Amino acid sequence: IRVLGIETSCDDTAAAVVSGDGRILSETNRHQHSVHAAFGGIVPGLAAAHHQANLPLVLRQTLLGAGLSIGDVDAVAVTRGPGMAASLGVGVAAAKALAAVHALPLVGVHHMEAHALLARMGRDDVRFPFVCVLVSGGHTTTLVAHDVNRYATIGATRDDSVGEAFDKVARDLGLAWPDAQDGGGLGPALEQAAARGDAARFPLPVPMDKSASAASPDFSFAGLKTHVRRMRDAGAFDARAPQDQADMAAAFQRAAVAHLRKKTALACRRARAMGVDFSCIVASGGVASNAAVRRALAAVAEAERVPLECPPPRLCTDNGVMVAWAGVERLRRGLLDPYTFDFIQRWPLDRLSEMPYPARA
Ligand code: ATP
Ligand code: FE
Repeated sequence: IRVLGIETSCDDTAAAVVSGDGRILSETNRHQHSVHAAFGGIVPGLAAAHHQANLPLVLRQTLLGAGLSIGDVDAVAVTRGPGMAASLGVGVAAAKALAAVHALPLVGVHHMEAHALLARMGRDDVRFPFVCVLVSGGHTTTLVAHDVNRYATIGATRDDSVGEAFDKVARDLGLAWPDAQDGGGLGPALEQAAARGDAARFPLPVPMDKSASAASPDFSFAGLKTHVRRMRDAGAFDARAPQDQADMAAAFQRAAVAHLRKKTALACRRARAMGVDFSCIVASGGVASNAAVRRALAAVAEAERVPLECPPPRLCTDNGVMVAWAGVERLRRGLLDPYTFDFIQRWPLDRLSEMPYPARA
């Protein structure tokens, strides 16, 4: 089988065709980072307008790249949520229209399930149940993935997501990143700066490491982010001095990664206490493209005697491939959606199996 996947939940207009055996037949991704850069954040109306403008080209290019026409695919999958309403609406409307042309099955995909399931693409050995660590621009969560459509949350962030913290700290450190570069956000800039830095020069406390919160599987990144800002404002380092930037980036990354490592280990213990014999740890989402994060989670996996499974770094950030693959997985289980389905702005991953879910939430 072949599935066309469409992703427009945020600021990437992406599409891909993926085969049932996990081959990427074609993929296209158009960023709009430079559009929003001047505003210091994503402007919803602008994002939707750019999806409208870019999607026809992205779809044509994707089908052309695979040497297919729309009648040659077996289903159309589209990100249904969570995300920005106006942006989601563009992708959903396009998917419905395309599917309608040849009466193709339509699959509404949860963006975070797509991030998670990508670790299984073309991999029969990545089996359910697994412990899942989703670290991205909008999420920082540990879950048990019992099956497609069936997730149980263990821990989640109490404030900022880890991706947001990377972005904001990078900005406070005055780090820049060329718009042309994949990945969105400033996470890659921080990772690169950290590689040149000495993490021991500005030691930072690991979040939630004190007695009361040490036992919680939740995450917190706002305190760490604020700590860096206060140090800068107090003149503890100079955000214009390259070595200070690098050392501070390294210190932040070390503390953030240690936090992720400890809470992931705790999530694994919780999963075992619930009687879940997980086959592996899956990490995905933009921050899972970070090499230090991958190393730390690999160490947790090793201690748990299971493998760590991550999509290749470039597919950890938003893309059309993950939506197409999630489409394959859901199609195989008969999880199709009626043409009347609507996007869902706020949509907890552990409530997927409660469908039919309210049309809008
Ligand atoms: P969500 O998936 O929660 O809806 P999103 O789709 O905006 O959010 P992703 O595209 O999955 O997020 O990930 C983007 C985030 O990942 C950004 O915050 C970015 O800075 C971060 N990121 C990307 N690469 C790296 C890296 N190498 N190191 C750290 N963070 C990174
Ligand atoms: Fe994402």
